[in-house]
Amino acid sequence: MAYDSNNIFAKILRDEIPAIKVYEDKETLAFMDVMPQAPGHTLVIPKSAAENLFDLKMTVGAAVLATTQKVADAVRTAMQADGIMLNQFNGPAAGQTVFHFHVHIVPRFDTVPLRKHQGKMERTEVLEGHATKIRAALKS
Ligand code: 5GP
Repeated sequence: MAYDSNNIFAKILRDEIPAIKVYEDKETLAFMDVMPQAPGHTLVIPKSAAENLFDLKMTVGAAVLATTQKVADAVRTAMQADGIMLNQFNGPAAGQTVFHFHVHIVPRFDTVPLRKHQGKMERTEVLEGHATKIRAALKS
């Protein structure tokens, strides 16, 4: 499948649809997932076009991993998570629904069960509250 530049994340990158952003640099962007599997669920994407792992340039992959490490550490601190789960899906059979490469950062808590992938939309004010804490942890 060829990269579709009208996918939701490409639109977020072009500021055509809103996103609650927590971190950005030359090559990557991190923002809140609108249907979080846990409070603080954040996505990291490259700014350049890549549908999945198999067409991701490794120099870009290195930048995505560096951002993932930085943001995951901030999510862990901000949400006081007991653990951090990373998910990354390639192809519909694997659960990929948005065809722009992304890494899920999902905080895990000893006593909180994981919500369904692509479950319920979270309220914007709740996501904004989590983003504020994550941005603060990124600065500290
Ligand atoms: P995938 O299923 O491709 O691994 O992950 C796509 C993720 O993007 C899902 O977790 C879903 O909740 C999230 N998502 C879908 N549409 C939007 C959107 O418009 N904005 C944001 N921030 N997240 C989205």
